[in-house]
Amino acid sequence: MKFLYLFGYPLGHSISPAFQNAALRECGIHGVQYVKKSVPPEELQQIILALRAPECLGANVTVPHKQTILPLLDEVSPLAREIGAVNTVVKRANTDGSVALVGENTDAYGFMQALRARRVDPRGQRVAILGAGGAAAAAAYALAEGGAYEIVLLNRTLARSVELADRLVQKFPLMGLALNDWDALGKTQLLVNATSVGMSPHPDASPLPPHVVLARHAVVYDLVYNPPMTRFLREAQAQGARTVGGLEMLIYQGARAFELWTGKRAPIRIMRAAATAALQEIIRAAGQKG
Ligand code: NAP
Repeated sequence: MKFLYLFGYPLGHSISPAFQNAALRECGIHGVQYVKKSVPPEELQQIILALRAPECLGANVTVPHKQTILPLLDEVSPLAREIGAVNTVVKRANTDGSVALVGENTDAYGFMQALRARRVDPRGQRVAILGAGGAAAAAAYALAEGGAYEIVLLNRTLARSVELADRLVQKFPLMGLALNDWDALGKTQLLVNATSVGMSPHPDASPLPPHVVLARHAVVYDLVYNPPMTRFLREAQAQGARTVGGLEMLIYQGARAFELWTGKRAPIRIMRAAATAALQEIIRAAGQKG
């Protein structure tokens, strides 16, 4: 048996095994299983050992290892280095017979594919991102690459937004950047929640301060996918905004990782069906409302 791993801590419920294993079955890849492995931060080296083992074919990496794993890998793709976070590790066979662990970031791709599928184009737009962690950085790079005119970064810890803005300005010197300008939200065409606020088991929390008035015709995108309809999205809809939930991004980032590991085209529909069913099952088991 060979394995693809999901490393994180704490992992709790994850729907990635359900949709990655469905994709493996659909593509006729037998004898390979995608399994989650909960590894605490102080045991980060265990991840590298597991990755180097011959039975491992690759991995996804999530919080809290997305940033700390970078210096331990043999190579990091330019995009993952710019974003400062790795969510996928690919094993590349070198011509001398050695194997290199290569860090990739598929979150930026997943983020943008989910927007494209809803025909949202950031070109020439002012966009705002709540958060400044790994997911916010992936979203910011994707939006900057997609031609956003200005990005407003809003984060609880200002120092983290400053650090992200410093990196963005070096790569995209012509793009506008603003920090913690909450008043800009009324003039923002796309608003992204890249914080964990509103995620189960705290679905009553919202990352937006009360009484924020959104721009007319704004698109509001929550990277949180459990619950599928967060308070943030519900309140945005009440103001007339179009909304995008986080499940599509999760599926597309996973699809890209699947293609990097297997070289096969990801069966998106099968992955979506498995992801949706797994999420419904988690919600049902937790006694939540869907
Ligand atoms: P991270 O690096 O740990 O960053 C967490 C972010 O959330 C930080 O900006 C943090 O602010 C903010 N935050 C946390 N608790 C907060 C609170 N109580 N009030 C205000 N801000 C708070 O995590 P990440 O990897 O970027 O992930 C962020 C979210 O995106 C998670 O919900 C994750 O599940 C989701 N995500 C979804 C996908 C997808 O495919 N749909 C992919 C990746 C991530 P500080 O800097 O002030 O701590």
